[in-house]
Amino acid sequence: AAAVVVGQQRSKGGCEKWEKVEEILKVFGEECETSIEKLKSVAEAMVVEMHNGLENEGGSMLKMLISFVDNLPSGDEKGLFYALDLGGTNFRALRIQLGGKEKGVVKVETEEVSIPPHLMTGSSHELFDFIATSLAKFVSSEPEEFRPLPGRKRELGFTFSFPVRQTSIASGTLIKWSKGFNIEDVVGEDIVGELTKSLEKVGLHMRVTALINDTVGTVAKARFSNQDVIAGVILGTGTNAAYLEHVNAIPKWHGVVPKSGKMVINMEWGNFRSSHLPLTEYDQALDAASLNPGEQIFEKIISGMYLGDIVRRVLLKMAEEAEIFGDTVPPKLRIPFILRTPDMSAMHHDSSSDLKVVGKKLKDILEIDNTPLKVRKIAVELCDIVSVRGARLAAAAIFGILRKLGRDTVKDGDKQKSVIALDGGLFEHYAKFRTCMESTLRELLGDEASGTIGIEHSNDGSGIGAALLAASQSQYLGVEES
Ligand code: BGC
Ligand code: MG
Repeated sequence: AAAVVVGQQRSKGGCEKWEKVEEILKVFGEECETSIEKLKSVAEAMVVEMHNGLENEGGSMLKMLISFVDNLPSGDEKGLFYALDLGGTNFRALRIQLGGKEKGVVKVETEEVSIPPHLMTGSSHELFDFIATSLAKFVSSEPEEFRPLPGRKRELGFTFSFPVRQTSIASGTLIKWSKGFNIEDVVGEDIVGELTKSLEKVGLHMRVTALINDTVGTVAKARFSNQDVIAGVILGTGTNAAYLEHVNAIPKWHGVVPKSGKMVINMEWGNFRSSHLPLTEYDQALDAASLNPGEQIFEKIISGMYLGDIVRRVLLKMAEEAEIFGDTVPPKLRIPFILRTPDMSAMHHDSSSDLKVVGKKLKDILEIDNTPLKVRKIAVELCDIVSVRGARLAAAAIFGILRKLGRDTVKDGDKQKSVIALDGGLFEHYAKFRTCMESTLRELLGDEASGTIGIEHSNDGSGIGAALLAASQSQYLGVEES
């Protein structure tokens, strides 16, 4: 009983409480401010780091990784190919039938498997054995007529969406994990070697012919049908971009100059950091509590894995310091990542006058009953602040790529078109995020240049792109039979 009395004594009076809530909200809003000038500084800093990263290995926080993709799919590819897409909470297996110039992509079959969370932080052979076993199951449904000829292996494009230092188009070592994965024994190891071991263990005759990042797959898939595509961006669980760079602008590349004269660069922009970034105490706390403190700072304020948790952290502060949910802090509100970005998006898009959806989410997820409208409005406001900051920064980064390539302005009336291919759940399903990102990009470019830049959804680029690259590599190596 004593505790209750103390609680009541400490509980704040109505006015005082709301002043404190408003104050927290105001400070947070101001700290998340992204004026156009600030965004331009962010883009400028990004361009500087892009140059540094291309100059030499380890020259920048932006790794600017060489993908070894210098020849994008032409559309002539033919045959049956497989792809594996690993990089978020699910992994997918794909089988794709390509019919060459005339028929293009004839058929795509996919299977999605969610990764048991304990495998994301366990040991590498457990993860890769699980993947190989699921893939083997998927392969067993292969139509008879597509069985490979005796002595020939099936060909697989492997999308592995973490920073990888490639040693060839079909091999590379893991630099570090991100997005909730943390399996120490694979860091520094050859990813394809690890997968191949597990494929052999389950008796699956398959050969990895392309190891790629999801951003690279996104470029490949989009470019397959649109030659104006110059970059691919993922706004999903994590965030990143890849773009086509002139080989002569990559001083650290000492290999042969490809026929195309170009190379796809995986920027790993999630690891970008700058004094211009609007960071708050909540971002700092989120980073400190993360699996990778000090890393992927840009990703932690932009991508789907984190946005919901930033909102939760501010709500928690409002509960602790201003008793926004009454004189006890709802225990669920203390659980990291309990408020996911899809839930945040649902609250943000609630158009009912009494914010029914917000009320339901707060009840279902955080077990907070009967929240007054005033509180629901604050929750929506927080979703808005967090998503607007993320979307505007994403736009600034895209603007940075365009600047690096000199495509941010129209020169001498030359209206060459540049298309950015986008994919990822945040882009696909968080409408307010997407529209804010797009309008900010237009704002940064101005009217004239905006007319030359296109944004395109490269649906399932990470999966289909890998299969396309596996196919183009296969022909390139001359193994394709007709
Ligand atoms: C990874 C990138 C990936 C991005 C989007 C980041 O966490 O480091 O390699 O492209 O997420 O999936
Ligand atoms: Mg999709």
